[in-house]
Amino acid sequence: MRESGYSPEEINTGEAHSARVYDYILRGKSHYEVDRAAGDAMVEVWPALPVHMRANRAFMHRAGRFLAREKGIRQFLDIGTGLPTSPNLHQVVQEAEPSSRVVYVDNDPIVLTYAEALLGSTPEGRTTYVDADMRDPDAILGSPAFRETLSLDEPVALLVIGMLHFIHPSDDDHGLIHRLLDPLPAGSYLAATVATADFDPEGVGRVAEQYAQAGMPMTLRTRPEAAAFFDGLDLVEPGVVQVHRWRPSPDDETVDDRDIAMYGAVARKS
Ligand code: SAH
Repeated sequence: MRESGYSPEEINTGEAHSARVYDYILRGKSHYEVDRAAGDAMVEVWPALPVHMRANRAFMHRAGRFLAREKGIRQFLDIGTGLPTSPNLHQVVQEAEPSSRVVYVDNDPIVLTYAEALLGSTPEGRTTYVDADMRDPDAILGSPAFRETLSLDEPVALLVIGMLHFIHPSDDDHGLIHRLLDPLPAGSYLAATVATADFDPEGVGRVAEQYAQAGMPMTLRTRPEAAAFFDGLDLVEPGVVQVHRWRPSPDDETVDDRDIAMYGAVARKS
C-alpha cells in the first residue's frame, strides 16, 4: 500500500488503462489519448459496450441501496472502485443512512490521484481510500484506513464490481474472495459482477481481443464459473443473473440481453 500520492510522471499515459477506458466510455473526464483510442476501437467491435457498462454501474447503485436500505448494512468495502463517477457508492449508501462508512480500494495511480473526489462524506459517516491490489488481501485488510474505518464486530458488505475480469484463475480468484470475506462477521455480504461472453460470444470475444491487445487481458466466465464466487454464501433473490435483471428499478434503461456481458449477484455470509 502507498500512503502518499503518485507524481504525474508515475502515471503511465503511454498505455491504455482499464479505469480510464471505463471512464471514457461512461463519458467521464479522466482519460488520455491512448485510452480514447482503445475505447473507440472496443466500441467499434462491440457497439453495446457503453450500454453494458452503464448497466454494470446501475447494478452497483441498486445493490448498494438494497444493502443499506433493506439489509441495514452500514459498512462497505469497495474493491476496484474506479474513477469518481456520480453517484459514487458512498453517496448512494449515505443517502439511505448518513452514518454509512465506505473504504474504497483501487490499484491504479490515476484513481489515487482523484481519490479526494471520492472522499466526500456526510459528517456522520466516513470514507477512506486504500491504494492496494486485490491480489494482496492482507494489504487491504491490514491497512490503517480499513482498520480505522470499519469495525469487524459489525457486518461489512464487500463489493467487487466490474473488475473480476482482471483477476484471473491463476491469481487464485476464488481464494482471494474467501480471504477477503474470512475476517468479516456473519451477516456480511458479497456483491459482485462477473464478465461473461455467454450472451454474445462473438461481440464480447472481439472486445476481449482489443483489451488483450491494449495490455489488459480479461477472463470471461460462464454462469457456473460466475456462481462459484458465491459458493458457501446464501444468494439473495434472484440469484446470479445478468446485471440488468437483478432487482431492476423503473429508472433503468431498457436493454437487450445480448448487450449485457455481466452477471451480478448479492449473497450473505452466515
Ligand atoms: N467498480 C467500478 C469501476 C470498475 S473499472 C464500477 O463498476 O463502476 C475497474 C477498476 O478495477 C479500475 O479502476 C481498475 O483500476 C481496478 N482494478 C483492476 N485490477 C485491480 C486489482 N488487481 N486490484 C485493485 N483494483 C483493480
